[in-house]
Amino acid sequence: MIFYNSLSREKELFKPIDKKLITLYTCGPTVYDSPHIGNYRTFLFEDLLKRTLIASGFKVKHAMNITDIDDKTIKASTNEKIDLKEFTKKYINIFFDELKILRILPADYYPRATKYISEMIAIIENLISKNHAYISSSGDVYFSIESFQKYGTLTNLKLDKLIQSKRVLSDEYSSDIIQDFALWKAYKHSDGNVYWQSPWGKGRPGWHIECSAMAMNLLGNSIDIHCGGVDNKFPHHENEIAQSECFSQSKFVNYWLHSNFLLVDGEKMSKSKGNFYTLKDIIKKGMSVEEFRYMIFSAHYRSKINFSLKRINNAKKAISRITNLKHKLIPIAKDKIQTFPNAKKRFHEALKDDLDSPKAFSIFFEWLKDINLMIDNGTISETEAAKSINFINFFDYIFQVIPKNKEIPEKIIHYAKLRETARMKKDWAEADKLRNKIDYYGWIVEDSKEGFRLKKKL
Ligand SMILES: [Zn+2]
Repeated sequence: MIFYNSLSREKELFKPIDKKLITLYTCGPTVYDSPHIGNYRTFLFEDLLKRTLIASGFKVKHAMNITDIDDKTIKASTNEKIDLKEFTKKYINIFFDELKILRILPADYYPRATKYISEMIAIIENLISKNHAYISSSGDVYFSIESFQKYGTLTNLKLDKLIQSKRVLSDEYSSDIIQDFALWKAYKHSDGNVYWQSPWGKGRPGWHIECSAMAMNLLGNSIDIHCGGVDNKFPHHENEIAQSECFSQSKFVNYWLHSNFLLVDGEKMSKSKGNFYTLKDIIKKGMSVEEFRYMIFSAHYRSKINFSLKRINNAKKAISRITNLKHKLIPIAKDKIQTFPNAKKRFHEALKDDLDSPKAFSIFFEWLKDINLMIDNGTISETEAAKSINFINFFDYIFQVIPKNKEIPEKIIHYAKLRETARMKKDWAEADKLRNKIDYYGWIVEDSKEGFRLKKKL
């Protein structure tokens, strides 16, 4: 497989640390609000990555963190006068519900930052002992940028922007001024009852140290792949590298993959512009989860994507072409076989080349056109039809765009085929019995000269 590595800014051949088991860390949600569709673009790109790895024979050990303590969660819970733990629980639940709705493969671990405080403290102590960190007069602990020669490699920063003795306490800041960043924040009145005891007095961790602690604890000091959105590159991922490598003395991550922004109708999403959508919002506006997935994957993950509800019809049409083809193939394919049409190999190669989903789509839809022609001409064989169903199933394993209620259960297909045989033997009583059985399970069987068609009862 080939990935574009943000670290080298080049496409590289993927060489995993362990040939069979890939370690994958993806930055998860900060649970102070419902995720917006831009967040889900990133999580869907990670789902595509994971499904492609699995389809290519790898096992994946995946950790995705939940940021349940940082500047934003404290501020939002204080504003709403709700205890931090209660407050974040609500958004953690929404997040897990939506992952399922979006048909995203679950991670092996969903570590919560508040459960890893002692691990964070241990890393910070180690960094202080090696002079990579220091305690300020106000009791905060900062990482010393100048102690790490490689600082700025990921985002190609020029360290001449480094302003000595400048420090930044907040979790998010711009790369205009590179500053020492906070590993530990001393307790302030505005933190309310949110604090932990540490060797430097009571306080709480900075955001960046959270991911370093959870990633290294669950996946080891060196990880194969770390993902996130491009907006995480600086300062978050740059800081993760600095802390982790100074702590472990080994390379933290071999491949950094970042997905680009999602724009809405050509503009950056913002609440004030009224173009800010959560998953619930777009479902309310009539877009299905499958249509959303289709729209996201129609662009390459490294390109900006322009989301528009106006383009919903393209997705609808494409999905119904796939579903219709599958339904037409079912009565033709008599046997189950393990092989695929030739186009599947090219489709898979496109995915293995830095997850080129637009190219994979175009290979698939060109093939689909040819198969439809063969069906119309009556030239498709039973074997070709069976292979074709396998390809559609493979396509759908990767992209998950066929609505579940459009999938015909195996049992129903079996009854329909038995009925076909009964009809050929002119055993009308048996054929009627099977039709009733199919009807009982909520399906309608129709006959045509190409064979039967199954439709879900409304
Ligand atoms: Zn992170």
